[in-house]
Amino acid sequence: MGAFDWFWKAMGSTAERNNKKSRGVVAAAHELIPALEQLDDAALAAEVRATVRGGEVADKPRFLAGLAVASRRTLGMQPFEVQNQAVLRLLEGDVIQMATGEGKTLVGAMAAAGYALTGKRVHVITVNNYLAARDAEWMRPLVEFFGLSVAPVTESSTRDERVAAYRCDIVYAPVTEIGFDHLRDNQITRRSQAVQAPADVALVDEADSVLVDEALVPLILAGSEGAQQATGQITAAVSQLAEGKDYTIDAEGRNAFLTDEGAAKVERLLGIDSLYSDEHIGTTLVRVNLALHAKALLIRDVHYIVADGKVALVDASRGRVAELQRWPDGLQAAVEAKEGLAVSEGGRILDSITLQALMRRYPVVCGMTGTAVEATDQLRSFYGLHVSVIDRANELRRFDEADRVYATVGEKNAAIVEEIAAIHATGQPVLVGTHDVAESEALAAALEARGIAVNVLNAKNDAEEARIIAEAGDTGRVTVSTQMAGRGTDIRLGGADEADHDEVAALGGLAVVGTARHRTARLDNQLRGRAGRQGDPGLSLFFVSLEDDIVKVGGAGEQVTAHPDPDGCIESGRVQQFIEHCQRVTEGQLLEIHSQTWKYNKLLADHRDILDERRAALLDTDTAWCELASRNPARAAELEHLPDDVKEQAARDIMLFHLDHEWSEHLALMDDVRESIHLRAIARETPIDEYHRIAVREFKDLANRAVDEAADTFAAVNIDEGGAHLEDAGWKRPSSTWTYMVSDNPLAGSGNSVISGIGNIFR
Ligand code: ADP
Ligand code: MG
Repeated sequence: MGAFDWFWKAMGSTAERNNKKSRGVVAAAHELIPALEQLDDAALAAEVRATVRGGEVADKPRFLAGLAVASRRTLGMQPFEVQNQAVLRLLEGDVIQMATGEGKTLVGAMAAAGYALTGKRVHVITVNNYLAARDAEWMRPLVEFFGLSVAPVTESSTRDERVAAYRCDIVYAPVTEIGFDHLRDNQITRRSQAVQAPADVALVDEADSVLVDEALVPLILAGSEGAQQATGQITAAVSQLAEGKDYTIDAEGRNAFLTDEGAAKVERLLGIDSLYSDEHIGTTLVRVNLALHAKALLIRDVHYIVADGKVALVDASRGRVAELQRWPDGLQAAVEAKEGLAVSEGGRILDSITLQALMRRYPVVCGMTGTAVEATDQLRSFYGLHVSVIDRANELRRFDEADRVYATVGEKNAAIVEEIAAIHATGQPVLVGTHDVAESEALAAALEARGIAVNVLNAKNDAEEARIIAEAGDTGRVTVSTQMAGRGTDIRLGGADEADHDEVAALGGLAVVGTARHRTARLDNQLRGRAGRQGDPGLSLFFVSLEDDIVKVGGAGEQVTAHPDPDGCIESGRVQQFIEHCQRVTEGQLLEIHSQTWKYNKLLADHRDILDERRAALLDTDTAWCELASRNPARAAELEHLPDDVKEQAARDIMLFHLDHEWSEHLALMDDVRESIHLRAIARETPIDEYHRIAVREFKDLANRAVDEAADTFAAVNIDEGGAHLEDAGWKRPSSTWTYMVSDNPLAGSGNSVISGIGNIFR
């Protein structure tokens, strides 16, 4: 912060003032409750509706009091004061930080109802399907009390269910479903085919996860197109390369590079002259790099697992199988080839959007999470969001121990097993957070070898995961999970029914053990936050070794002199500080990657806005017909005999086909440009400026080309009562489409990384 300390102090004091003001409102609401309790349901609902004036909740105390009474009647929960404060902050458009187990679901529903009463449609965005369905059903009685409608959209919703749900006042849905529906809606050729209806407010649960950690994950809509790549020979050649000699890996472990020797070896094995010749640079070399990436950087059981003859990605931030995710086609194929599996079908990318660009489409974004404060910078700079910290209703009684630091991973792992066994012997439940599937399985095996029964969480579905997690607080349980298990589910002491609550509390509550520090302090705190719910006692403890990734990456080159105990434990304040330092460096790197990547993505997001406007005009008006008819009046005259709606729809189909086609080409081209921009911009301009220049020029060309091509098609294609016969002219929309996310891989670097650089295989 340094020179801007005064600025942050000033910001702090406005936050204070806001809190003071909202405490006043909450106190006033409290006074009103007894009178409102006398009203019957209809009168109470009317009273709350009457607090809305001029498009906003004008009488906030009465609004909160009315909601409190309604909440008790319908859900059996009377909101705590801190919950009421949180509702006020959400209505102001903030991201609230509220600890795990403090009741954010109710807060979100109250705020959503507030927005909906002012006539705004609200999307409550959850992190998974299970929570969308759970929360919509749980909060339904409260929402419907005011005559508002609510419905969930989940992966399993049918088309009709989605159409109905998106027309409700409040929609609960995972961000992926909203994004995929948006992409599919951008392919329609008649307004009546649209699944979504416009929304005004995004209220994001687990806001840091969606808005920061996964912000750059692109959602992809692809269409079938066949064409396979022959990867077998290349994979075989690359498998013979040796690290250090034929290729090198950069210090951050994000990129692998062929050495001259390695390139020569590949050329010999493939029987080609030069990988860098015009013939091979855009094709063979790209595939060689993909195969090398698959071989050198993607490790089985860490980055992916092989199950049922398929490669399944492991979600980097959650450490579990990511059902919907795959790598960009070429890398997916390279990994499949490496594992000797059948190479899956490739497709043409029709459209893609990052979560950040998707969230930017909402006029109002607000959110809630247990860990917002550490993401304050990102939330402000990427979304202009302010973070409000809400106090706990009950004091925190969790004890966070200092990290246990070891010199080597081996010593650390041995100590982890000892510590878990020792805690377990007392009957206290233990939740262990590990960093990947392989680690979780190795640890579970080590514990089982000591006769300790372990629940391993390799979640197959969210509901199952929630069930296991919910039981994790029962006496004597040991649950080993991969990262971030169970965001959104509360772990109750003494089992889901809290039967043995007091017994477990007497043992010290839930003990959370982290096997390494995460890339961000936020993820550490999410894990810690599993313990100490609603004022319960609890314990959290992290193990670190100087060989951990975060220490190697964050502390690159720096040395700590340490004097370990005989068992390898290093107790020194300086080492603790060094670990904190390493984590801050890693956080800084992630932030830098995020802002660099967003610089590239933002322009495409702007272009997409323009495209959307054009699409809307083509869908909702007779623009398409007017433009084509004025370009070619003779052709228009020939079609004179057709009914207006047929002519207009034919023109619409033609225009939209070419617009969508050009946009898909544009996305592929810009990916390509982004990959090579560092070469193109040689010493002339900064890469990002050069990228912008090309993007703006290409987008303008796109707009013109789309209309020119449409005019050509208009002149040539057969148009009759059945509309424009585009297929006959070879203009065919993909017969089937599918959606997936490109993995938010920690290996992905900034603009010139291997992963983001694979854009050119998208064509
Ligand atoms: P969070 O999302 O903040 O982690 P949840 O919304 O899952 O928390 O709620 C945690 C638990 O607290 C739930 O069991 C819920 O029923 C309970 N709860 C929340 N608010 C209240 C309240 N005002 N009164 C009683 N119980 C509440
Ligand atoms: Mg929650």
